[in-house]
Amino acid sequence: MEFQELKSLLNNKPNVFIVTHKSPDGDAMGSSLGLAGILKKKGCNVSVVAPTEYPAFLRWIKGNEKVLVWGEHNAEIQRAAELADVLFCLDFNALHRIDEVGDLVAKANGKKVMIDHHQQPDDFADLMISDTSASSTAEMVYELIEKLGDDNLVDGDIGEALYCGIMTDTGSFRFPSTTSRTHSVAGKIIDRGADHSMVHRRIYDSNSQRRLKLLGYCLMNMEVLEDAKTTIFKISKEDHKTFNIQKGDTEGIVNYGLSMPNIQCSAFFREDRDIVKISFRSKDDYNVNEFARKHFNGGGHVNAAGGMSNDSLDEAINKFKNVIKS
Ligand code: 5GP
Ligand code: MN
Repeated sequence: MEFQELKSLLNNKPNVFIVTHKSPDGDAMGSSLGLAGILKKKGCNVSVVAPTEYPAFLRWIKGNEKVLVWGEHNAEIQRAAELADVLFCLDFNALHRIDEVGDLVAKANGKKVMIDHHQQPDDFADLMISDTSASSTAEMVYELIEKLGDDNLVDGDIGEALYCGIMTDTGSFRFPSTTSRTHSVAGKIIDRGADHSMVHRRIYDSNSQRRLKLLGYCLMNMEVLEDAKTTIFKISKEDHKTFNIQKGDTEGIVNYGLSMPNIQCSAFFREDRDIVKISFRSKDDYNVNEFARKHFNGGGHVNAAGGMSNDSLDEAINKFKNVIKS
């Protein structure tokens, strides 16, 4: 499908289905709700779908109360996918990243549009807007809105949703993925009324005592592999109970490893029911995307990726140590 076809489709008040990846983060929810806000203003009938629950610090975004979560609203999600004229897939590039919702999207008759900035996209959409040089999907969504000629519809609420996506995916405009283009989009969003300081407060000043103590616990138990320039953090099933860990509580902890100048790679292992979820972060050209794909069934970006293991927590960590040695 050509861009022009999408543009005319969206001008005809279609049914729109917007879905993002599981364990949605700030970019996932910000880009989805920002796009939803614009399309609603254009008269589209929009459903926003999350394949799993998402953290409380993202629930202030305008439109949050209407998000359909798989597991809670399955019948509505199924119906919305069947009725959709256009299905947007935001901030992921392979259908397995949305679990069971992936089957609904694959079967749906509507036009599929992918908007994403991760490496190595699968070819599953009618229109693939993939740009690995973009800081965030939210940055790409703003540019799409401009290309549709609808940037005059961006208001404070929509701007704050998109700003949330850009800010969280760039580590507050500090990762190398931040470009003049990122700042330019952020500037235009602020000019349209977004309160950037409020967005920062909502996301980063949302700690509970419990979460800060969990951070302290993780930092105390951090393992440093000096020779491999690597840090390892871990959370066991028992820790989950002790700290009553909620969605989003462990987000960002992995980054602390990289705050030491000699460290090039940091990994966070979290035992979650029967699997171990892993987050990888790195500096410069240390490619954790390749690493996560090859050894841990995952993927992502050059400097931020995720994966999983069916081994025990300690086995997964040992495998990681062996792989980085080789
Ligand atoms: P996080 O560590 O914050 O969960 O994820 C870091 C980045 O890697 C995000 O951009 C996320 O979308 C991606 N990612 C995380 N887990 C996976 C995974 O299991 N598979 C793939 N392909 N990407 C992942
Ligand atoms: Mn993203």
